[in-house]
Amino acid sequence: MSVEEEVMKIQKKLSKMTSDDGSGQEQALDLLKELQSLNVNLDVLTKTRIGMTVNALRKSSKDDEVITLAKVLIKNWKKFISNSESNKSSSSSDSKESKKVKKEEKPKKEEKEREKDRKLPSSFPPSSNTTDSVRLKCREMLASAIKTNSKEDDFEGCASADELAQELEEAIFAEFKNTDMRYKNRIRSRLANLKDPKNPTLRTNFRIGAIGATRLATMSAEEMANDDMKQLRDKFNKEAINDAQLATAQGTKTDMLKCGKCKKRNCTYNQLQTRSSDEPMTTFVLCNECGNRWKFC
Ligand SMILES: [Zn+2]
Repeated sequence: MSVEEEVMKIQKKLSKMTSDDGSGQEQALDLLKELQSLNVNLDVLTKTRIGMTVNALRKSSKDDEVITLAKVLIKNWKKFISNSESNKSSSSSDSKESKKVKKEEKPKKEEKEREKDRKLPSSFPPSSNTTDSVRLKCREMLASAIKTNSKEDDFEGCASADELAQELEEAIFAEFKNTDMRYKNRIRSRLANLKDPKNPTLRTNFRIGAIGATRLATMSAEEMANDDMKQLRDKFNKEAINDAQLATAQGTKTDMLKCGKCKKRNCTYNQLQTRSSDEPMTTFVLCNECGNRWKFC
């Protein structure tokens, strides 16, 4: 006889007793003891529903021993059920967690791929490298002209002299598409004006980006002359001073200055008297596009 069949047999006897309103339960204790000795598992409990029968007996019985044993049996069987349920729930929560982990792993991979994308340059540098010895020599001379009488520290954050020289040379070469006399004359006139000790403003204007390389490449001698440059510089300073009176913490927006890093003309500047009042003001520039900061006097 299987456990299930034995339980069923006991259940039949017990159910007769529970219908009897407490009387005729003399055998109940023996039947419960018999149940206790049997290896009742979850499967048997589910199939026979003996738990309900014993619980009904517990409720209707007036015998303390029957009630106590019934309680013990039910308590033990509940452990079965709760264990199996907690096993089920824990295993299901495990699978949920593992799913979560898998879900979390995926975006991490995606993020890594995105980071790779970020690390890749957004655009390749312009094909500015030339092996033409004439062009390279011109760039070298332009760079040294741009550096004339200026400390690199004063233009920290601006495009470097070498970068500017390259930009300027490219703009000139783009016009002539060769290094003939016209190209060389154009280079020579830029060199002369950039090096001119009487014309420091052209150099400064080019250096801080107030004059772009493409503009300087095509400027006439008159345009590069002292007065025009002074006017441009003065205009900029006047604007700056006027704006300085209204200056907010955010500074003044301008498209006159070109960022040395991203080459865009969307900057905000502030002018401050950093040293004694008879010295020129220092202009602090912030690029609104890439956040590059620099200063010049
Ligand atoms: Zn920028």
